[in-house]
Amino acid sequence: MAIKVGINGYGTIGKRVADAVAKQKDMKLVGVTAHSYSFNTEVAKQKGYKIFSVGDDSDLKLNGIKPDGAIHNLLEEADVIVDATPRKIGKENIEKLYRPNKIKGIVQGGEKHETTGISFVAQCNYDGALNKDFARVVSCNTTGLCRTLNALNKFEITSVHATMIRRGADPWDIYHGPINAIVPVLEMPSHHGPDVQTVLPKCQIFTTALSVPSTLMHLHSVIADVKKKINVEDVIEVLNKTTRVRIVRNAEHLRSTAEIMEFARDLGRLRGDMPEICVWKEAVGVTSNSHNKLLYMQAVHQESDVIPENIDCIRAIMGFKDGQKSIQMTNDTFGIK
Ligand code: NAD
Repeated sequence: MAIKVGINGYGTIGKRVADAVAKQKDMKLVGVTAHSYSFNTEVAKQKGYKIFSVGDDSDLKLNGIKPDGAIHNLLEEADVIVDATPRKIGKENIEKLYRPNKIKGIVQGGEKHETTGISFVAQCNYDGALNKDFARVVSCNTTGLCRTLNALNKFEITSVHATMIRRGADPWDIYHGPINAIVPVLEMPSHHGPDVQTVLPKCQIFTTALSVPSTLMHLHSVIADVKKKINVEDVIEVLNKTTRVRIVRNAEHLRSTAEIMEFARDLGRLRGDMPEICVWKEAVGVTSNSHNKLLYMQAVHQESDVIPENIDCIRAIMGFKDGQKSIQMTNDTFGIK
């Protein structure tokens, strides 16, 4: 029987999860919510998705959208809700909506780990979310760090320092920035390191972060100390074999986040998304005085890397036991390895 999924919060993440759910053979998209009228609601209607209002629906009706019901109707019909509302609302929704209605829920990286007690990246800790009532899919940055560090731990990582060069805002966002500044995060470590430890508790990681005037992707510069002697070829081989990680090369003219995004568009990806973490081949290095220090740079498409994770997390909390199979099923629908 197909898993019935509802999406609450139909913005950057919610609309992508909705489209991904609609593609899964073992899931049925029950519908999405509209908190207010926007082009997103218009597209949901065109796609034939059922629309459930949150709060006052006069704005929707005024703009010609007749909702198929209110949020409580969506809760009645769905087995699980993917909550992709803005930061802190997911936590409130668990207490106000999902727990009282005995419905399972997934929240996003804007919520704290304590909200659900399980922070999820499919290839790292799928089993930890099995049959849970609630789980949190971690942020785009944490997902990116966890995917590569988990794989590279084959070389026995002892400590990591990573710097997150963050996009200032999502491409559609006219309210955030910076437009003309580089803005350091004035806390040490930035929250990303502790967040990685919610998924990889043994990882000794210290992170710093800054925001730049770009909307396309984040870029991570990572330095890891490892116990085993390593060479660049072995590192690239491991990353090449890692699911949801893509090696990109100078020879392909994939030298920047801009070219990677253009590549994703040319691949015909929906919305030009790049859910894989892109590691630059030429930016993988080991220090010459010691072969125990590894350096690499990776690009993270903030709008899409967490979408496959949400799909696997749905299966995990609904009790689908085979994490590897879930990852493969999800990857096939995204056309990724
Ligand atoms: P968004 O602002 O793009 O979308 C949020 C949507 O929720 C909007 O459509 C808004 O109308 C709707 N909404 C607002 N209040 C609501 C309510 N009370 N009930 C129902 N819907 C409501 O936000 P987003 O970027 O998709 O972020 C959602 C979550 O995903 C956050 O936790 C965020 O931290 C996380 N996240 C965002 C990104 C990213 O780069 N955008 C990446 C990874 C994780």
